[in-house]
Amino acid sequence: MSITENLASIKKTIPERVTLVAVSKTKPNEALLEAYEAGQRVFGENKVQEMVQKWETLPKDIQWHMIGHVQRNKVKYMAPFVSLIHGVDSFRLLKEINKQAEKHDRVIDCLLQMHIAKEETKFGLDDEELKALLTDSEFSNLKNVRIVGLMGMATFTDNQDQIQSEFAYLKSKYDWVAKQLPEINTLSMGMSGDYAIAIDEGSTMVRIGSSIFGSRQYT
Ligand SMILES: *Cc1c(COP(=O)(O)O)cnc(C)c1O
Repeated sequence: MSITENLASIKKTIPERVTLVAVSKTKPNEALLEAYEAGQRVFGENKVQEMVQKWETLPKDIQWHMIGHVQRNKVKYMAPFVSLIHGVDSFRLLKEINKQAEKHDRVIDCLLQMHIAKEETKFGLDDEELKALLTDSEFSNLKNVRIVGLMGMATFTDNQDQIQSEFAYLKSKYDWVAKQLPEINTLSMGMSGDYAIAIDEGSTMVRIGSSIFGSRQYT
């Protein structure tokens, strides 16, 4: 199946209220352009440098989402154009995004990444860190970032019940954050293998790569 066909069949399974982020990491510009021609405008990348290169060469009405782990010293490269940063997992990173956004006179939308998987390797805040971040006395001084929701990745497993309970946990955290920040509107959860479960559990944004573009080859 082509990228165009994959996109069309995935879109049929996603409700209108759920935003589809086409995860194009490692894929060449031609692949992104095929998705673009099919109407896709939101793309997700996990390496700042790769995203900058694609932004420079591809149509300017694409919305670029940074979905990977972000190093603070790389924020400056994407600050001019990034439309949503999914992986904010520390107050220091949030402050750096704020600082770089200010230089460009922008307000950058961010998601706080929560650690929900039973795996050591996945990044993210735990419950205590989430609370600490939101109650940090400096938090309200950050005028150039806007927290618009949460993001999380479930454990890579065939156990559907486990995936479901991890997403349900993230949704409960989202509802808790919404009490303090009523303006939030984005719950980023679900990838190729688990997005149907994520949508059932309240996802408003799915990040889908391999089901659109085919499997990735890392060299
Ligand atoms: C790569 C990646 C995805 C997409 O994964 P697929 O299984 O290819 O859909 C989603 N979210 C994050 C954070 C990723 O790094």
